[in-house]
Amino acid sequence: MNAARLAVGVDIGGTKIAFALVSREGDVLAENRLPTLPEEGAPAVLDRIAAGIRDLLAQAGRPVDGIGIGCPGYVNPHTGICHRAVNLDWTDVPLRDDLLRRLALDLPVAVHRDTNAGAVGEWMFGAGRGQSDFVYAAIGTGMGFGAVTGGRLLLGRGFQAMEFGHVSFDPHGRLCRCGLRGCVEAYVSGVGLLAGYHEHRADFPASPLALMANVTVGDILFAAGRGDALALCLLDEASDRLAAALACCVGMTDPGLFIIGGGLGLALYDRLMPGLEKRVRARTLPVTHGHLRFARSQVTSSAAGAAALVWMNA
Ligand SMILES: [Zn+2]
Repeated sequence: MNAARLAVGVDIGGTKIAFALVSREGDVLAENRLPTLPEEGAPAVLDRIAAGIRDLLAQAGRPVDGIGIGCPGYVNPHTGICHRAVNLDWTDVPLRDDLLRRLALDLPVAVHRDTNAGAVGEWMFGAGRGQSDFVYAAIGTGMGFGAVTGGRLLLGRGFQAMEFGHVSFDPHGRLCRCGLRGCVEAYVSGVGLLAGYHEHRADFPASPLALMANVTVGDILFAAGRGDALALCLLDEASDRLAAALACCVGMTDPGLFIIGGGLGLALYDRLMPGLEKRVRARTLPVTHGHLRFARSQVTSSAAGAAALVWMNA
């Protein structure tokens, strides 16, 4: 009867909310997307989340085990409250209870930070299957980490463990959108690459990329593929900053595996490897990195990763 078990996953992003109906084996049986429109306020966003869930519950046609939600920002998984999500402009939103009230259902609802949901998705369905110790890095518009250590999702006192994207590695470095300087995210993310482009553009007058107007992250990746010196400088900088963060993860959690995911992470994976691996090894002792492996994320739907939260402790 295991094949019959289902869950609904929800990934709340700044621009869209992704929904998936997922089997216990990680198969995505149905998907849905709705715009987030955070400017309409939290109640309107919660109405849309409830509507998306209702749609997939109707498609399931039978009871599901629960609902898993990945939410950006500072989330308390015990209370289901999102205390702060800058991109959504949310403060103390009782996500779990407000959703259950709207759905009028008695179902388990698991709420975690989105990067933790991503890590659990990899653990249950993807590159982290069967692993007790790994670190997941999600690289997209922003970036973040999640870790499973000793067979448990690492949470921390205030559930902010592995919030490494906004640890400053250089107080004199690039200004991050969080207000700190030298954060990993300020270099290793779509926002970071674009900031780097404007910072270094004048240093590469012969670069075709430097001469372009309205440059996008896609333009930077394309230019890197053509050997553009400015684009390669930006990726080299990203690799160096990411290596510093991953080397700290080695020292802290001694993972056997790094899983690189997120849209930009997957797009960059082949270009970053094997240089990134070499840099991490150069910054750590052989006794701690001898068993290290790198892999790309295998869970392509962020909502499917969120659904895995339902079965995390089962
Ligand atoms: Zn920051």
